Amino acid sequence: MSVIQKAFLTNSLTHKEIVGILSSDEYNDSLFSYANLARKEHNGDDVHLKGLLEFSNICSKNCHYCGLRRQNKSLKRYRLKPKEIISLAEKAISYGYKTIVLQSGESNIYGIDEFCHVIKSIRKMGAHVTLSIGEKSEEEYLAYKNAGANRYLLRIETTDEELYKKLHPSMSHQNRFECLKVLKKLGYETGSGSLVGLPGQSISSLADDILFFQKSGFDMIGIGPFISNENTPLRSEKNGSFYMALKVMAIIRLLMPKINIPASTAMETLDKNGRVIALQSGANVVMPVITEGEHRSLYRLYPGKICLDDTPSHCRLCISGKIRSIGRGVSLTNGDSNNFIYRGGAA
Ligand code: SAM
Ligand code: SF4
Repeated sequence: MSVIQKAFLTNSLTHKEIVGILSSDEYNDSLFSYANLARKEHNGDDVHLKGLLEFSNICSKNCHYCGLRRQNKSLKRYRLKPKEIISLAEKAISYGYKTIVLQSGESNIYGIDEFCHVIKSIRKMGAHVTLSIGEKSEEEYLAYKNAGANRYLLRIETTDEELYKKLHPSMSHQNRFECLKVLKKLGYETGSGSLVGLPGQSISSLADDILFFQKSGFDMIGIGPFISNENTPLRSEKNGSFYMALKVMAIIRLLMPKINIPASTAMETLDKNGRVIALQSGANVVMPVITEGEHRSLYRLYPGKICLDDTPSHCRLCISGKIRSIGRGVSLTNGDSNNFIYRGGAA
């Protein structure tokens, strides 16, 4: 039995086996097809579409890779008003979205009550709410949970502590781990993930990331290649590899067959068919942007962001067409991950 078949049947791999798979291309075909099979067996053929609403690009942090970092003075900053966020969410819901993902830089520019009002208003319209707004206190996470937020995405970015320190000035790796624990404890459907191809990142540390995700029992994992941004300290570094990110994602699918895995936008930036390839290699979620107008381009994490001039309704039609073209359908459920349902978390 090959190592990939073993992973498919037992949902387990050793660190050494993961390093072996990531270090060679000889497993690629079988890795991607078994990951696709695991996705099909445990999650079916339907793809969850979740509307990504990038409601502010203001950030107090300085992550070395990200265009939203505080010290990037060349970026025009914006903050949508609560009623604008609610109105964009309402439109997206009318196009058929059942989950709104509220994402922003990390900041305190919205009061907790103000943000609870946004969450409650979106929940009242019948959609689920995912938050991706960074590290907060337990009290703040609890307030948003009580307001109705269902899910939270917080990538660990890398489990390599030394590398984390280098890339995240004045941030605490330990606090990131703590936040993830608190989110899970509070009953959020919890997602994490990493960047693949960060300068100085080793294959062994990618294997550590994968095993950490499995041990933590997260419900969603987002994997994206690092893309170099000229307005950051990593401007001269080369981009991460599309295929390395795809391999990490596919191994995660074999080890965590019931979780939700998005086909990341950064993958499509590196390969014009990236999201479809990811959907055929283990992914079961796509998060099209539902922000409108100039805010789409001002949410500039990295260059080459896709669909900048498109409208949310166009994006939904376009991705739905791509999904149908590979024999898959768009899910009509609320988008909970089967992992969350099986561990008894869903309402
Ligand atoms: N500020 C929140 C946080 O950091 O958790 C949420 C928004 S942040 C922009 C979302 C994700 O963007 C990060 O977790 C990071 O992995 C990704 N990202 C930032 N810069 C990137 C880059 N240059 N290439 C690829 N992904 C990037
Ligand atoms: Fe801010 Fe998130 Fe970008 Fe870091 S990754 S600079 S926290 S928006």
